[in-house]
Amino acid sequence: MNEKEIRNIGIMAHIDAGKTTTTERILYYTGENHKIGEVDNGEATMDFMQQEQDRGITIASAATTCYWRDHQINIIDTPGHVDFTAEVERSLRVLDGAIGVFCAVGGVEPQTETVWKQADTYKVPRIAFVNKMDRLGANFYEVLNEMEKKLGATPVPLFIPIGAESNFTGIISLLEMKALYFSSEDKGSTITKEDIPADYQAKAEEYREKLIDACASYSDEITELYFEGEEIPTNLIISTLRKCTLERTLLPVFVGSSLKNIGVQPLLDGVVDLLPAPNEVPPLKGYWEKKDKEIEVIHDEKGPMLGLIFKIVVDPKAGPLCFVRMYSGILKKGVAIQNITKNKKERVNRIVRMHADIMTDLTELKAGDIGVIIGFKMAQTGDTIGTEAHPYLLEKMHFPNPVISVAI
Ligand code: GDP
Repeated sequence: MNEKEIRNIGIMAHIDAGKTTTTERILYYTGENHKIGEVDNGEATMDFMQQEQDRGITIASAATTCYWRDHQINIIDTPGHVDFTAEVERSLRVLDGAIGVFCAVGGVEPQTETVWKQADTYKVPRIAFVNKMDRLGANFYEVLNEMEKKLGATPVPLFIPIGAESNFTGIISLLEMKALYFSSEDKGSTITKEDIPADYQAKAEEYREKLIDACASYSDEITELYFEGEEIPTNLIISTLRKCTLERTLLPVFVGSSLKNIGVQPLLDGVVDLLPAPNEVPPLKGYWEKKDKEIEVIHDEKGPMLGLIFKIVVDPKAGPLCFVRMYSGILKKGVAIQNITKNKKERVNRIVRMHADIMTDLTELKAGDIGVIIGFKMAQTGDTIGTEAHPYLLEKMHFPNPVISVAI
């Protein structure tokens, strides 16, 4: 897979906003659970969750890979809480972009605000999904207001809802100016495109205008076409939005109900179209301890091998599964690498990719990708792996107790 076709994303949400349900639907539409359970009623991921509970492990929550429109999407678990700063910070470092899931009733809740601000600090490009449009009290436009007021974001809807609460029936694409309806028989897999209902025409035009307006502020080409009264190509709108998402000047907003299977596939399109590939994000800051120097880890397959172990899950059969994000170079199966944090050598017995709980064996893992190393004995979460020649740390060591220096 070319690095341009990789997306390392997190899903950020206030508890109960629908992170789990949205992730399950993503896994469903990307087909992974068909492969897992061979069940046709869409409950495969649920089966997996049950299996996960039985085994007492949380593989899926660390990182899972799925595919959409020939792109590889690595979904990294992002804690919704803010209590364990090191953990949240680590997960924010590992991902290149995120989906913020909001409840259409609850809107922007205090905890979301805190995590959002933390993601701002790490300059994480984001798109938003306003979920639960079918719930009593759902108000899409109020959530947009809150995003502006509480998050300081400039929300730009790409879709608007048709109806709300029990009358929520579909969404309108402002790019295509079409109404999208999701079949109830096959969990929304079949999408029907129709003309916009007459009573939504004015609203759709109003929000299409807002979308074009927002994009025009960042694209002379769009401004020109607009004033000349010319048609603005969808590709141009998307590429402008992509640029603005990366720079975090605009927040593209999607809408739906994951429980009712409405709006999740367009959100996946948003991940592919708007969130960055690993080679598009700024270099990660590393640390060269011996020289007491900060260094920049440039994304480069041909550079020195360097990766960060961001989570370890112990599997009763396979042993410790070390989830690693590669930033530079290529990690190869069978070789001995340097655990830079521990200053020890370790052997890479196996490299696998997780698709929910299915493992696929790999021979190598390239810069920008995420996978699991099996066979490490002493590795811990937060350790950097690399080579002796380039002993850079991707995460400074955290000491459990503060070191107090005493003047004698
Ligand atoms: P999480 O805590 O963010 O992971 O949220 P969950 O995905 O576990 O959802 C919390 C509750 O909200 C569950 O009971 C879900 O069934 C429900 N839920 C999730 N999405 C929707 C939705 O779109 N509409 C409605 N009505 N309920 C939803």
